[in-house]
Amino acid sequence: VVLAMNQMVDKLKTLFAEEAARSEKLRAEAYQDSLTGLANRSGLQHRMSEEFERWQRYGGRLLLVVVDVDHFKSINDRFGHLAGDKVLRLIAQQVSRRLRKTDFIGRFGGEEFVILMPGVSPEQGIVALEELRSGIEGTPFHFKSEPVPVTISLGFTEFIRDDSLDSAFDRADKAMYQAKELGRNRVVRAATP
Ligand code: GH3
Ligand code: MG
Ligand code: MG
Repeated sequence: VVLAMNQMVDKLKTLFAEEAARSEKLRAEAYQDSLTGLANRSGLQHRMSEEFERWQRYGGRLLLVVVDVDHFKSINDRFGHLAGDKVLRLIAQQVSRRLRKTDFIGRFGGEEFVILMPGVSPEQGIVALEELRSGIEGTPFHFKSEPVPVTISLGFTEFIRDDSLDSAFDRADKAMYQAKELGRNRVVRAATP
């Protein structure tokens, strides 16, 4: 009887472990964008809240960056949706490669990405983001052996006193639109009040 009990306990342990692994996998998938492998909107929102709370509690530096692919619609129109998808994967890859361990990137939606950079000053931020921008510009991309020009526009801001996640996001987003207006393929730092 004791032997049978031990076997049953072991069996239950295995079942629980399997169930835990399954739900962990589902949770991870719910936060992941299947096209790029980056965090999706939910994953991003989760991490943004975490970083924001940390910043509120401990202070320090925190940068928020909005990245938007330039003329992405025309890439889709000229080369097809598959080429567009490939461009998104390439950008995700290239940007991830160049980020620090403490930075975080997610796909906000469509052809827009958000990057969080804790512990980075705006001056350091400009240098790092300028490297990202020129890195993408300088990465040759071909679809069916035709060269496809790919560039990104970036807007960013530092978190300042009394900021909420929304107020900082709004500034970074406006700065990104300013980058578009100024001719695209550039980095703009948001003006802070
Ligand atoms: P701008 O330089 O002003 O940002 O121009 P744009 O063409 O990039 O901007 P717009 O917002 O007009 O177009 C974005 C396009 O992105 C439209 C939509 O079809 C495309 N798109 C959104 N999500 C995906 C996706 O997952 N895959 C592909 N291939 N295209 C996508
Ligand atoms: Mg867009
Ligand atoms: Mg765009």
